[in-house]
Amino acid sequence: MSKTFDIGIETLAGKPQAAPQASSEEAGARDVSTIPPNGKSFYIETFGCQMNAHDSEKVAGVLLERGYRAVDSLMHADLVLYNTCSIREKAAQKVFSRLGEMRYAAPRKVIGVLGCLAQQEGEEIFERAPWVSLVCGSASYRRLPELMAQVEEGGRRVSGLDLDTEETFETEFTRRDNPIRAYITIIEGCDYACSYCVVPHTRGPERSRASDAVLGEARRLADHGYSEIQLLGQTVNSYRDPSPRGLDFVGLLREVAAVEGIRRVRFTTSHPNDFHRAIVEAIDEIPALCDHVHLPVQSGSTPILRAMRRTYTRDEYLEKISWIHAARRAFSITSDVIVGFPGETEQDFEETLTLLDAVGYDGVFSFKYSPRPNTAATAMPDAVLEEEKSRRLAILMERQRQIQIARNEKLVGATFEVLVDGRHESRDQWSGRTSGNRLVNFTSPRQSLLGEYVQVRITRASANSIAGEQVI
Ligand code: SAM
Ligand code: SF4
Repeated sequence: MSKTFDIGIETLAGKPQAAPQASSEEAGARDVSTIPPNGKSFYIETFGCQMNAHDSEKVAGVLLERGYRAVDSLMHADLVLYNTCSIREKAAQKVFSRLGEMRYAAPRKVIGVLGCLAQQEGEEIFERAPWVSLVCGSASYRRLPELMAQVEEGGRRVSGLDLDTEETFETEFTRRDNPIRAYITIIEGCDYACSYCVVPHTRGPERSRASDAVLGEARRLADHGYSEIQLLGQTVNSYRDPSPRGLDFVGLLREVAAVEGIRRVRFTTSHPNDFHRAIVEAIDEIPALCDHVHLPVQSGSTPILRAMRRTYTRDEYLEKISWIHAARRAFSITSDVIVGFPGETEQDFEETLTLLDAVGYDGVFSFKYSPRPNTAATAMPDAVLEEEKSRRLAILMERQRQIQIARNEKLVGATFEVLVDGRHESRDQWSGRTSGNRLVNFTSPRQSLLGEYVQVRITRASANSIAGEQVI
């Protein structure tokens, strides 16, 4: 794999003002470059999902506004923050091993733990790693300026762990690390209670941002040259505008897509329960809405879905897929699947495999079930052995690989619009994404394509990408 974003946004035509390290995209607000540095530098390492990655961009914005300077190595940082994930045990272990490595770095460096593991372990982190000065869950990020002020005054064991909130994390500045695609959180937290999942315990209750705040951010991003926006939320399609405008998710999609300069709008992650036909109709109707839906199914077996508390059956899920299959545009569909949930029999697993065939996914993130603290599934009987989980995962991944090869091979000969986001010097190839989020590697006689939309004719296909040449 190439380093996709190894070329800074300042090198992209028409986007000179948004250097990925330290700039704000917030036109109309003060430029962070005018804030005198306070002499302190920071480094954030992010674990986990796209929401965490974007939270880190917002946290970085808060720090830049306080006069901190971003550095790209923790060696050179006065403040080191870990934005953590606890969705699976492995992710949580990784964070603790990182904290162990920092044992002798304090007091020269201030160490902070943010995100899901911070919320899950709370002040226990100070006991396990007394060299940590700050512990803050994502539901308390709005308090970061106040918490940072305490840390700067030499405060130890500073914490932000309130979970019960109706507020969202609004920042004046956001550092944009991706020069091609910009992220906007539209909904935080989660009100579902899937029996395997820590998110409701770590990110708090669902709360949507006001549509004016979201649209203002989209307009500023467009003014700064971004043409692709991804709307984020753990259950993005449960969006309900809390302002008097009262937009629903489709209403918001339509308005974001209408922002001048925005050519592509994506969104993730959709919960099947809130996935309505109107979403498919809007995508069919509005070219700026990307023809890709990520709709995590988790299992193809209705009894397992019930035990997971997913609130839909296999048939109900497949009915929603049938709306997508019937659409005028050819959507790509991706999903998340968990294998080895407690009580999952060979028959249940077989139903997941047949569901993969019935949907014809273009990509699947598959995971072995990992028991998590405070979740209902940990107390469920009939745990599946680790080796059996591994066996099922390997079978599922191979089945899905074959599906992807077959689907991608059908694309040979077709031409797609690709937004170019990477360069592979050694292969003399460019890479980018279609509206359906397919990875395309291609050749071109042109010298400078990053950030441009080009037409690519597909000549070859493999499981995870398609390849071709630019149509000049
Ligand atoms: N909110 C999204 C949804 O409802 O599908 C997903 C959020 S979660 C961050 C991403 C994925 O991690 C889930 O879709 C699920 O497949 C997986 N996941 C969550 N908890 C897990 C667990 N305890 N063990 C294994 N995988 C898990
Ligand atoms: Fe977790 Fe379920 Fe909420 Fe998704 S919908 S974040 S899987 S509890």
